[in-house]
Amino acid sequence: SVRLDAIRKSYGTTTVLRDLSLDIPAGCFCTLLGSSGSGKSTLLKLIAGFETPDAGVIRIGGNDVGKVPVNRRNIGMVFQNYALFPHMSVRHNVSFGLDMRRISPGESARRVDEALEMVGLDDLADRRPRDLSGGQQQRVALARALVIRPDILLMDEPLGALDRALRQTLQVQIRVIQKELGITVIFVTHDQEEALHMSDQIVLMRQGAIEQAGSPWELYRQPKNRFVASFLDECN
Ligand code: ATP
Ligand code: MG
Repeated sequence: SVRLDAIRKSYGTTTVLRDLSLDIPAGCFCTLLGSSGSGKSTLLKLIAGFETPDAGVIRIGGNDVGKVPVNRRNIGMVFQNYALFPHMSVRHNVSFGLDMRRISPGESARRVDEALEMVGLDDLADRRPRDLSGGQQQRVALARALVIRPDILLMDEPLGALDRALRQTLQVQIRVIQKELGITVIFVTHDQEEALHMSDQIVLMRQGAIEQAGSPWELYRQPKNRFVASFLDECN
């Protein structure tokens, strides 16, 4: 599980997260939904340990993340802009995630094959990223995150740059992989429809605070206030 307790974060005089508490059960597909600037990416960075909160505690599986070294955290990340290495093949982009871990070359190759197969890229292992479509590049990024066998997968608008049809295909594939592996996913989007389709739990954020957290059904059918109602209604 991922547990946030009274998290605060400011940059200079800008308060980005205000006293934010949240409980994400293990194996849950949780979506952080909110408009631009609501603090979604900042929250992911705190969970990943790229940034530290000014106050509050983040616990993963009961352990305070502030006290766990970065390489022991076992968190996979996928971003909107892929962030692949252009000069490396697909295979090397994926195995890169394992290089810092002490894993034998044989085991590493097995895991890379397994990750590429999971995302349906086994045929393209020797290509360079520039010779792939956007959707294929995003699959490489996903394989690179999965190859470490993460307990938690953080995804920051991973489908934002893709066209509608491709988005829908990948939405389904990500969900299938998540269920198969039983991992906890924290997924960021500002697309209501995507959130409603994919999530077990939606966390609707506004100006660094949580307006409502619950199942898609709860937010859609039992919105706590007008803001929640109108935000979710936009997809009709
Ligand atoms: P988007 O949907 O546009 O990606 P977001 O919900 O991910 O938005 P964040 O990136 O978390 O929003 O940013 C929240 C607020 O914090 C914004 O007002 C942003 O300008 C500010 N912010 C984020 N990072 C920094 C930083 N390093 N220094 C100063 N301000 C920052
Ligand atoms: Mg963001």
